[in-house]
Amino acid sequence: RYKKKWAATLPRIPCTRLALQNFDMNYGLQFGDRWPSIRISLLSEQKYCALINNFAQSEKVIEKLELLTARDFIYESCRRSLAPELAIAAGSSPEEPRRGCLDVQDEELRQQMTLAGDGAANAQAALLQSPLDYPSIKCYTFGKGDISRFSPARLDSLGLLSYYLMDAASILPVLALNVQPGDDVLDLCAAPGGKSLALLQMERCRHLTANDISASRTGRLHTILQSYVPRELRAPGSLRITCCDGRSWAEEEGSTYDKVLVDVPCTTDRHSLLEEDNNIFHKMRTKERQRLPMLQLELLIAGVLAAKPTGEVVYSTCSLSQLQNEYVVERAVSVAAEHGVNVHVEDLSFFRGLFQDTFCFFDGCRVGELVLPHLTANFGPAYFCKLRRVT
Ligand code: SAM
Repeated sequence: RYKKKWAATLPRIPCTRLALQNFDMNYGLQFGDRWPSIRISLLSEQKYCALINNFAQSEKVIEKLELLTARDFIYESCRRSLAPELAIAAGSSPEEPRRGCLDVQDEELRQQMTLAGDGAANAQAALLQSPLDYPSIKCYTFGKGDISRFSPARLDSLGLLSYYLMDAASILPVLALNVQPGDDVLDLCAAPGGKSLALLQMERCRHLTANDISASRTGRLHTILQSYVPRELRAPGSLRITCCDGRSWAEEEGSTYDKVLVDVPCTTDRHSLLEEDNNIFHKMRTKERQRLPMLQLELLIAGVLAAKPTGEVVYSTCSLSQLQNEYVVERAVSVAAEHGVNVHVEDLSFFRGLFQDTFCFFDGCRVGELVLPHLTANFGPAYFCKLRRVT
């Protein structure tokens, strides 16, 4: 008699298909009418930004990018946020093309703020008190609706790569951290290293510790930092790369850091929809996927405990999932309180206004901010939320 061999004969459902089924069910409910538009964007080509390497000889590269009409979205957004009256008071237009050099642009922007009269004082105060103190980081993107691609970065004469290609929305958690000169910073889940590199580009960390549990991914982190950061800035006095389980970080170094970035493992929604390799929706990884919110919670609590009292923590994911985003943050706040650590969720709604020309933000998060993929601005998803330790 013919006996069916299910396991051998049934075609395997691709992980990407399982991911789409899961998202249709969960995100359909979470986003309602908005889901079809987010869905098609997630399935379409993602946009990148070029994070300029301030340590490389980058002037020529910047000139080339500007000729291609790419723009430094951070600089442009800060400049526009000064409001037209500010720019007019300072005698220039907010739309005026920028010059490529960091010092020039930084000084130009600050001069505008100083020159501007009383009428602009509120806008100036808003910028200064905003979560984003104007950073020395340059990040080029093509405008909304422009789907041009960046060519791969080249080595300069010192052997450093001129820019790093990444999702522009991944820069936002780094900006939200608002690192100040002299800060001790911990990047708890750092590999492969895009955000650590962005943190170093700000040139504000007194010391950066970049940690990841995975030895192979820590290896990639080493390679990336070697390709972008001069040797002297990678010396132990400035940078430490570790390979530990972040969940137990505070056992060794509690209440230590001014700023902590907790960029947790998540369902990496875009990757899960497009790549079979290393897909968290693989049947063999079901338990791992179901345990993600607990792992994320433990990592966030460890990040909070690693921060000094008054220290700040940014939690981030590249998932749309409320279970991995807001619920984790809210649960972490209550668990921390049960252990006598009070944490305040900071308001980052300022980011929505500041970067509205570059990203499509979701306006329905209870805590934190979420960048939604959109066909005209196909960045993200990126969720980020900032917590300040009060005790
Ligand atoms: N921040 C990185 C960047 O910008 O390139 C991306 C981080 S990725 C989203 C999450 C990382 O968390 C992975 O590299 C993973 O190896 C690491 N990870 C997972 N569990 C961890 C744990 N218990 N402790 C520390 N890192 C962990």
